[in-house]
Amino acid sequence: MQIADETAVLIHYKVKSDAGELLDSSEGDEPLAYIHGQGDLVAGLEQALLGKAAGDRVQVVVAPEEGYGVHEPAKVQTVPRDAFEADATLEPGMRFQAESDDGDVLVTVTHVTDDEVTVDANHPLAGQTLHFDVEVIAVRACTAEELEHGHIHGPGGHHH
Ligand code: ZN
Repeated sequence: MQIADETAVLIHYKVKSDAGELLDSSEGDEPLAYIHGQGDLVAGLEQALLGKAAGDRVQVVVAPEEGYGVHEPAKVQTVPRDAFEADATLEPGMRFQAESDDGDVLVTVTHVTDDEVTVDANHPLAGQTLHFDVEVIAVRACTAEELEHGHIHGPGGHHH
């Protein structure tokens, strides 16, 4: 069976940066299970997987526009230190949910001084060109229940 919209797909993947740094991998873990065509994966990877079958190996380079987006400077904000709890530990690299005009967003602390904290609401991988190395493990039709829930059940997916 080939990967198409509304198929359940299991993949093992590795993704590296332009510099060759390993950013994420399913190695040593269950394969990633997703429903094709609903934007679970970055757009560039979904496009590359369309039409592939179990056993296929896919290597694709995904530009930021087809990945986690370009890095938008407007999403970087410097806020007063006293906007946070006085005893809160704040360190670069910390992530937390913040409220914005677009709803809750995940922000990353990028810089901390005595008076100010810089937070970045871009995706941590925004601006990165992604080098994917993917092996298709299995492809099958989704069950009606999976399509209704919007996620895969069973290995690599939700257990409930
Ligand atoms: Zn479910």
